[in-house]
Amino acid sequence: MHEWSIAEGIVDVLLEMFKDKKLREVDIKIGELRDLDLDVLRSALNILSESRSLKGLKFNLHVSKARFKCLNCGEEWGLEKALEMVEETIGAESVIIEESGSELPLHFIPSLIIGLQKCPSCGMMDIAIDSGRELEITRVVVEDDRS
Ligand SMILES: [Zn+2]
Repeated sequence: MHEWSIAEGIVDVLLEMFKDKKLREVDIKIGELRDLDLDVLRSALNILSESRSLKGLKFNLHVSKARFKCLNCGEEWGLEKALEMVEETIGAESVIIEESGSELPLHFIPSLIIGLQKCPSCGMMDIAIDSGRELEITRVVVEDDRS
């Protein structure tokens, strides 16, 4: 359950940065390639913040869309197009069997998504992930800050 360790990291950072302040709201940006279960993450955040003196803190989770970019010609595209290309290359039903024995749909592994695509425009494989892997605290509302 990596949602729990991520939630713990976020709560740690908040406690560290805003030691003596009462926090009201926190916005968090999460890239869709992170493949986090937002419901699980939200409850983890709620439970951990309750138990660690951040009672009543509201978490707003925002998903940022994945963008892929060709480093050769500058073409950009999103996850849907990327998955189409991956499926063309290896077949729609492919899954990775993890060491633990659990199956993971391929599209949840960003490094593989990169390796299995060609630029839809120029055909080169020199591709970067422009966005979609973020995990950032983007806004914190402190209780006595009413601006
Ligand atoms: Zn290109």
